[in-house]
Amino acid sequence: MSSRPPTVLVSGASIAGPALAYWLGRHGYAVTVVERSPALRPGGYAIDVRGAALDVAQRMGVREQIREQRTRQQGMTVVHGRRDRRIDITGPTFDQAPAASPGIEIMRDDLCATLYQAAADNTEYLFDDTITAIDQGPDGAKVTFENAAPRTFDIVVGADGLHSATRSLAFGPEHRYRRDLGAYVAIFTTDNYRGLDHWAEIRNTPGRLMGMYAARGNTTAMGLFLFRAEESLGHDHRDEDQQKRILEAVFAGAGWEAPELLRRMRTAEDFYFDTVSQIRMDRWTAGRVALVGDAGYGPSPMSGQGTSLAIVGAYVLAGELKAAGGDHTAAFPRYEARMRGFVRANQDIAGDGLKVLAPRTPAGVWLRNQAFRAAPIAARFGGLIDKVHSAANAIDLPAY
Ligand SMILES: Cc1cc2nc3c(=O)[nH]c(=O)nc-3n(C[C@H](O)[C@H](O)[C@H](O)COP(=O)(O)OP(=O)(O)OC[C@H]3O[C@@H](n4cnc5c(N)ncnc54)[C@H](O)[C@@H]3O)c2cc1C
Repeated sequence: MSSRPPTVLVSGASIAGPALAYWLGRHGYAVTVVERSPALRPGGYAIDVRGAALDVAQRMGVREQIREQRTRQQGMTVVHGRRDRRIDITGPTFDQAPAASPGIEIMRDDLCATLYQAAADNTEYLFDDTITAIDQGPDGAKVTFENAAPRTFDIVVGADGLHSATRSLAFGPEHRYRRDLGAYVAIFTTDNYRGLDHWAEIRNTPGRLMGMYAARGNTTAMGLFLFRAEESLGHDHRDEDQQKRILEAVFAGAGWEAPELLRRMRTAEDFYFDTVSQIRMDRWTAGRVALVGDAGYGPSPMSGQGTSLAIVGAYVLAGELKAAGGDHTAAFPRYEARMRGFVRANQDIAGDGLKVLAPRTPAGVWLRNQAFRAAPIAARFGGLIDKVHSAANAIDLPAY
C-alpha cells in the first residue's frame, strides 16, 4: 500500500457495514460509514449468527459478547386445529443446549451495536445522510451526498440492504436483481401480553402465519405476520398505513390472536413490512464499487442466513483487499470467487424455509403439524436445520 491509507466509504451501518469497517480499519484503511438513519437503528427482530460467521465473530473478539446477548429462547408452540391445540417444540436449535446449538440467536439491534462498538475507534460515521451520486474516475470515486460536501474515495461499498441505493447508482435499478419469493413479512414490537417466557407461539392457516415471541428478557414481544402472495401487491415502501391495511385484509377472519395482533400492530412503536425477496446478481463489483450483505446477495429472511452472509462477506472483502495490497482490481474478483458458492448454498435454502413456515394448502399445514407432533423437537424441521447448518459452513475462511 502507498503511504496514504486507502480510503473507503461504506454505505449502511447495520450488520455488514460495521463488520466491514472493523476489518478494513484493522487492515489499515481509513473508513467512513454513511448511514441514512439519524443514529444506529434501534429495534428489530431476532436473527441468527451461525457457522463461518461465528468463526469471524471469534476472530473479531466479539463472539463471547454475542453469546452473552443471545435471546435465550427456549422453544415454540405451534397452535393448530379448531380447538387451538398446542404442540410444543424444543431442542438444541433453541437455547436448551447452547454448546451443541449450531447458532446464536440475538436481537438485530444488539448485534449492530456490538459490531459498531468494535469498529468505532477506527471509523468515521456520517449519520442522517446518504449517497446521491458516484462518479468513478482513474483517481477515485467522487461521491455526492445529500447533506455532506462531496468527497473522493478509493473504494465505495454498498452495505445498505435489500433496497440498496449504492446498488441502484452503480449497477442499475432494483427490479433487475430482486427476486420475490411470493410472500410478505411484517414484524413489530408489542408488550408481552401473553406472558411468554423465552418462548414463541405461531399459528398457520393455509399460506398465512401469525405469531409472536418474547423478547428482551420477556419484557416485550415481537408480533409476526407472514403470508404468501403470488402476485406483487405493489405496496408503497413509505406508506405504513397502506401496509397495515393490507395485513388487516389478509388476516381478517384468521382466528386465534389475529384480531389482537392486528390491533396492537396499529399502535406499535416500530413496524417492518416488506416482500420476502432475494438479491441475485452475476457481479457484486463494478469498478471501484462493491456490494456486501443484503445489498449484493440478500438471501431473504426465509433462509435465516442473511446476517451470517453479511458478516462473512465483510470479512472476505476486507481480507482480499488486504491480501492484494489494496489493489481492488485484484481483490474484487477474488472476493466474488470466494463468496459465490457460499452465497448460492445459503440462498438455495430459502424456499424450504418458506414451505415449513407457511405451507400453502390445508393438507400442507396438517402434514407439517403432524410432523411436529410426531417429533416435537426442533431437529425435525423437515431436515431444514441440517441444510442450514451445512450451508452456514460452506466456505473456507483464510486467515488474512
Ligand atoms: C423479519 C426478518 C427476519 C429476519 N430473520 C433473520 C434470521 O433469522 N437470521 C438472519 O441471519 N437474518 C435474518 N433476517 C435478515 C437480516 O436482517 C439481514 O440479512 C441482515 O440484517 C443483513 O444485514 P445488512 O447489513 O446487509 O443489511 P441491513 O440490515 O438491511 O442494513 C442496511 C443498513 O443500511 C442503511 N441504509 C439503507 N439505505 C441507505 C442509504 N440510502 N444510505 C445510507 N444508509 C442506508 C439502513 O438504515 C441499514 O442500517 C431477517 C430479516 C427480516 C426482515
